[in-house]
Amino acid sequence: MTVTVKTFERLTDAAGALASDRGARFLGGGTLIMRAVNEADPSVGTIIRSTDPALQHLSASSGRVELGAGVTMAAVLAERELAFLHSVARAVGGPAVREAATVGGNLFAPSPYGDFTAALLALDATVIFAGGFGQRELVIDEFLTRRDRNTSLVSSVAFRRPTSTDAFRFHKVTRVHPKGISVLSIAVNVPVASGRIAGARIAYGAMGQTPVRAKSAERALEGRTLDAAGVAPALAAAADGTSPVDDAIASAWWRREILPVYLRRVLLGAASA
Ligand SMILES: Cc1cc2nc3c(=O)[nH]c(=O)nc-3n(C[C@H](O)[C@H](O)[C@H](O)COP(=O)(O)OP(=O)(O)OC[C@H]3O[C@@H](n4cnc5c(N)ncnc54)[C@H](O)[C@@H]3O)c2cc1C
Repeated sequence: MTVTVKTFERLTDAAGALASDRGARFLGGGTLIMRAVNEADPSVGTIIRSTDPALQHLSASSGRVELGAGVTMAAVLAERELAFLHSVARAVGGPAVREAATVGGNLFAPSPYGDFTAALLALDATVIFAGGFGQRELVIDEFLTRRDRNTSLVSSVAFRRPTSTDAFRFHKVTRVHPKGISVLSIAVNVPVASGRIAGARIAYGAMGQTPVRAKSAERALEGRTLDAAGVAPALAAAADGTSPVDDAIASAWWRREILPVYLRRVLLGAASA
């Protein structure tokens, strides 16, 4: 099987080529897509690349953070202003994978992958597309519900920096340390104002076909205190809306069983990375 590689200087041209060819896939870092090519996946006929510097754009010094889709996990780890995301980037594979794995590719990584995307979901990120004729941006929840039908090129993601360094927390549960695949991952953004939780976000990786928000648990945290009594109703609702699968890493039953245990630890600050 022949695979054609097309390289474009401008993202808009790459977006046009991607949208017009059903067998085309955009190349991020290639950690997943090159595996598909090497396995002769017949659905991949054309690889689209772009050398547009916009893909590597990273701006993190203000309240709004923007990450080009081509920013790698290693680049996130090298940026001090993104310290709150270092535990997330470090959780993606080993060093060689992190050198190549991109933010954009992680948005499309099948479960149980998608640890970085779970964090973006807890940060209420916006997914921004390049060129094409469709919608230019989508909130990440909506993007994930339509992901499998996506033929658009993601150019970047953007989100507001957490209000305090303590508000955002992430934990990945894995059987193989330090770089195993997720049994599940949990990202929370829990702003506290006048001693009460306001606008909490909780997202899980590996608890469904894509990373998912725990909306019942979020609602249960609203106006509560961030202590054992305050988080108890959220723990009771922790698995609502999730649909984990049985796979080689863990059973769906086990994922549901351990979820509230780890959510409690993350919310109470007893677990990190
Ligand atoms: C050994 C190993 C360990 C791994 N461990 C983890 C892990 O612990 N956690 C985890 O989350 N993932 C893990 N992964 C999966 C993967 O490496 C990451 O999810 C990574 O972020 C994917 O990014 P990529 O740039 O390599 O994607 P690619 O392989 O380049 O692309 C993946 C998919 O996304 C599409 N795509 C990429 N960029 C764009 C874009 N800008 N616009 C539109 N479509 C795009 C591609 O067309 C393709 O369909 C692992 C992979 C391997 C091989």
